[in-house]
Amino acid sequence: MTRFADFHQRSLSDRDGFWAEQAELIDWHQPFEQVCDYDNPPFAKWFVGGQTNLCHNAVDRHLAARADQNALIWVSSETGQEQTYSFRQLHAEVQRMAACLQELGVKEGDRVLVYMPMIPEAAFAMLACTRIGAIHSVVFGGFASGSLASRIDDATPAVVVSADAGSRSGKVVAYKPLLDEALRLSVHKPRKVLMVDRGLAPFQRVAHRDVDYAPLREKHLKAVVPCVWLDATHPSYTLYTSGTTGKPKGVQRDTGGYAVALAASMKHIFQGQAGETYFSASDIGWVVGHSYIIYGPLIAGMATLMYEGLPIRPDAGVWWSLVEKYKVSLMFTAPTAVRVLKKHDDAFLTKYDLSSLRTLFLAGEPLDEPTAQWIAQGLGKPVIDNYWQTETGWPILTIANGVEKAPTKFGSPGFAMYGYDVKVLDDATGQELTEPNQKGVLVIEGPLPPGCMQTVWRDDQRFIDTYWKTIPGRMVYSTFDWGIRDADGYYFILGRTDDVINVAGHRLGTREIEESISSHPSVAEVAVVGVADQLKGQVAMAFVVVKDVNAIPDDAARLKLEGDIMKTVDSQLGAVARPSRVRFVTVLPKTRSGKLLRRAIQAVCEQRDPGDLTTIEDPSALQQIRDLL
Ligand code: AMP
Repeated sequence: MTRFADFHQRSLSDRDGFWAEQAELIDWHQPFEQVCDYDNPPFAKWFVGGQTNLCHNAVDRHLAARADQNALIWVSSETGQEQTYSFRQLHAEVQRMAACLQELGVKEGDRVLVYMPMIPEAAFAMLACTRIGAIHSVVFGGFASGSLASRIDDATPAVVVSADAGSRSGKVVAYKPLLDEALRLSVHKPRKVLMVDRGLAPFQRVAHRDVDYAPLREKHLKAVVPCVWLDATHPSYTLYTSGTTGKPKGVQRDTGGYAVALAASMKHIFQGQAGETYFSASDIGWVVGHSYIIYGPLIAGMATLMYEGLPIRPDAGVWWSLVEKYKVSLMFTAPTAVRVLKKHDDAFLTKYDLSSLRTLFLAGEPLDEPTAQWIAQGLGKPVIDNYWQTETGWPILTIANGVEKAPTKFGSPGFAMYGYDVKVLDDATGQELTEPNQKGVLVIEGPLPPGCMQTVWRDDQRFIDTYWKTIPGRMVYSTFDWGIRDADGYYFILGRTDDVINVAGHRLGTREIEESISSHPSVAEVAVVGVADQLKGQVAMAFVVVKDVNAIPDDAARLKLEGDIMKTVDSQLGAVARPSRVRFVTVLPKTRSGKLLRRAIQAVCEQRDPGDLTTIEDPSALQQIRDLL
């Protein structure tokens, strides 16, 4: 792999020359003066002095060559609706949405919180924000009032865009009551709530606050709202993600660096061509949805397929029927979805004409070999794993067949991508582990390449402390993942170093779940750990010490309390965070200094050796957990 090795090497040794070339992949209103300003590490400023606009690059710039080609294809297997928008139509809809937001008082730099199901208006809202320089903050629709309220308070949006409901497995999931409750809980009160009414769930309108989208859009049918030219370093969005502490972090992304990074990844990694169709079966509430449902494919001039529904409804062939119908070239999903499909008849994989499909990309969680083999053989298509994070916005590790075709290795997402100076460090000494197959923490030397997070929203110190000060004596970005690199430069990911767990590709903080469970009046103490699961990768398991054991005298009482605690989590954080089981113990395993031994609990749950227990306060605590399982 000499070509890729040279490409990667140049991206580090001639960083500015390399990224200046990549910057030619997008339109600039004003050229930049400096490629990278890294005078104040770890804060990197990319394409300083340049002006551009994400929405212009995703929509307007394609009007000349492909106005009447598909830009957005929306399919809901939940409601049976399908709708396509050409670039011309998308351009019109985005301007209508932008005009509505402006009428509601949204200005450049204001935040707009988007709490929506997978409907076209969600895409219009995101693009309308970046069009006028407002900063969107999309909150995953599966999060409930408590999670939503904390994000509203952190983002302090001028306006919230939402909808009456989503739908899951044929059941209407009302969003508005959750939003109303969140707005009751939050300290910050947005001026307006813009409501898309899908006619799925009737809702109450709060006078002077709630505005219906349809009539307002009608008023702005002919809206002409030009793109606002923004500094390359202007924030485009924030996206909240979980970490060690209970409080989610607002990952802040820039404008110019992100546009360049996505355009480059579409060329070198995904190999998407303008005029083709990209189908990313994720949700706009996650980073994959931002980068590879909305911005990446559109910047590349591709049509993007936005899908509301499950992979197995009406049957497990639904995705492949869409590949056939819309001639999808590239697909992106998470291993969990493939494991779900694997429980169904293999014949679905060959039922449709998949000749348009070139590659299936998988990311978000470890890809196990049986899953990878099954789907690659079943489809007869290459499967490419890629490893990255909300923080980075685009793949850190994968293979880049657009630069040079490389083999994949099962169990490995691949090697370090251009722009990323990845190292394996000893977490205790900070020493680099240069020999093959040594386990350490994966870190990235600064500056992070274009497209990665600029900072934690309104909290520069937290950005430094959280990510750059975890390894003794070194200022490097920690991925919080353990990993090894083999002799060929392929990395293998061995799990998180922190208390983050990964349930079906969804990143959750065990501390957040613990905080929610602790708010239940019967709970004295709780530990939440991630436990290996065949289908979802991991599930959350909770161990609770109750205030009064007499309150749970028998199995029936225990089951009822377990259900009540799950409901608490559902209503505060959302069903995504609900533990798979809540078990009751009289004492939790802790060190003598009072630290919870989460890793030991996890090991016992997974029937592994819990390791060194010399510091444990009460060994019977772990025995209780063993007995329960
Ligand atoms: P998120 O920020 O939600 O994208 O989660 C990022 C985390 O998911 C990473 O730090 C990893 O722990 C895990 N992850 C993402 N992609 C992969 C992958 N391809 N293989 C293994 N783990 C992954």
